Amino acid sequence: MEATGSKSVNSSLVDLGITSGKAHWNLSPDDLAHQALQLGQAKITSSGALAVDTGEFTGRSPKDKFIVKDALTENTVHWNTFNIPFDPARFDSLYKKMTAYFNGKEFYVRDAYACADPRYRMNLRAITEYPWSNLFAYNMFLRPTADELKHFSHEWVILCAPGFRANPEEDGTRQGNFSILNFSRKIILIGGSAYTGEIKKGVFTALNFILPLQKNVLAMHCSANIGNAGDTAIFFGLSGTGKTTLSADPHRKLIGDDEHGWTPDNVIFNFEGGCYAKVIDLSEEKEPDIFKAIKQGALLENVVCKKGTMDVDYSDFSKTENTRVSYPIEHIRQIAQPSLGRNPRNIFFLTCDAYGVLPPISRLTPGQAAFHFISGYTAKVAGTEAGVTEPTMTFSTCFGAPFMPLHPTKYAEMLSRKMREANVNVWLVNTGWSGGPYGMGTRMSLKHTRALITAALQGDLDKVEYETHEVFGIAVPRTCPRVPTDILHPRNTWYDRDAYDQKANFLAGAFNRNFERFAAHANEEILNGAPKVKVDA
Ligand code: ATP
Ligand code: MN
Repeated sequence: MEATGSKSVNSSLVDLGITSGKAHWNLSPDDLAHQALQLGQAKITSSGALAVDTGEFTGRSPKDKFIVKDALTENTVHWNTFNIPFDPARFDSLYKKMTAYFNGKEFYVRDAYACADPRYRMNLRAITEYPWSNLFAYNMFLRPTADELKHFSHEWVILCAPGFRANPEEDGTRQGNFSILNFSRKIILIGGSAYTGEIKKGVFTALNFILPLQKNVLAMHCSANIGNAGDTAIFFGLSGTGKTTLSADPHRKLIGDDEHGWTPDNVIFNFEGGCYAKVIDLSEEKEPDIFKAIKQGALLENVVCKKGTMDVDYSDFSKTENTRVSYPIEHIRQIAQPSLGRNPRNIFFLTCDAYGVLPPISRLTPGQAAFHFISGYTAKVAGTEAGVTEPTMTFSTCFGAPFMPLHPTKYAEMLSRKMREANVNVWLVNTGWSGGPYGMGTRMSLKHTRALITAALQGDLDKVEYETHEVFGIAVPRTCPRVPTDILHPRNTWYDRDAYDQKANFLAGAFNRNFERFAAHANEEILNGAPKVKVDA
């Protein structure tokens, strides 16, 4: 087999079943970009970033994500619509087919780490059909030094072959594309989809199983940053709620934008070495840090350039709403190095409430915090298609059900315990609608959301008066420095106050119906954290 690039001394792909072809080992970002350009798979935009189209899939495909069900996972994985069982024998035969697919081809190998805390480090080897998928892995995972690469040995293997499609009848998949985790063999297979998020969230899913179960570390779908006083803040939230946007704060150091662990000795560490930001409607004015990170080395996905130029038109969603960029975390100026923080002080639950019911910021009791964490609420508008006016609500446990192989109460119990031990404040932040629901109100101003978060972090909200929300029972500040008082209680922002009360009760009802399936696992304190529907509303 031919080999180029930086290969570790005792590595061989033959053990993995790949015996012929040309392997490009750990190429530099420039070399990978060059290869992608040569293959006609990419363009260079005017900021120097590489731009690709991911093709048929511009987002993850949760229905095609499987976990091999065997002795290790049978009684540990919480089997549900996100954790779909896959037969071990079928996995083995699909694995053979995939390695056969790589044989004779040119492909790209990336050796990298996950987990910035060296005590929990995971060694990954990603073998990708496309050079730009490899660039994604370079950007998103932790990068070994040249010396570390020389002696690298892998623990987990990821095979990523967008051009390989499974035969559902023979292979046991749902359709041609698939993403399958095998915890016993420590392999992730991705086929039929070139959406890079499958690589990232595959590793995340693996860690969400391993860390809580085997290492007593809480795994979280959250961003994190650290202040000058050494206080760490954590931002949980489903997709599009603001984890990446709000964690990039010029006055604080970024730890990471999406995936973190919380150790028994209260270290918050990033799983990754890069960020994966949404770029729809991105502007330099509103999100300067992310905008400036999109330079040489960054990888843009599914964006469109302005006619006759190589300038990206960030308002163009003709390929997808989910336009993205990945870049190494060093592209952000203010970062924690290494990517870890101590002393967690504040937790924010971000929700994009398109009903305009939840306050822009409120303070939660421990019981309310557990209730909202298990609920994992957000409501978004489907897209920008004409005629779509009703927000769609999502309840996703732990703000990340698609990536959590264990039962949600496992994560919730760990978080509750840690919150108590570390004595953290928990805030619920609505980054969604204000002044009415979608169609009548407007999205919360990013400037105000940032000011509210800054106020919470600086302790300003410890000095103000609160009122209790009539339905949700959460504490709403009456005033906040640098934020107009009249936006703080959502009821005051609605033209029709009765309509607000009705919508608040409607949403509370939805929360409570969703929670029914967890009620048996919840104690008195958590149950008291639920909203109280007023029957007469
Ligand atoms: P994912 O898990 O998919 O990466 P995320 O939680 O990181 O999602 P962001 O990438 O931060 O979400 O997306 C939030 C989007 O909402 C951005 O495009 C941001 O510009 C926009 N936005 C508008 N108003 C606000 C606000 N008040 N607060 C936060 N984000 C806002
Ligand atoms: Mn994000």
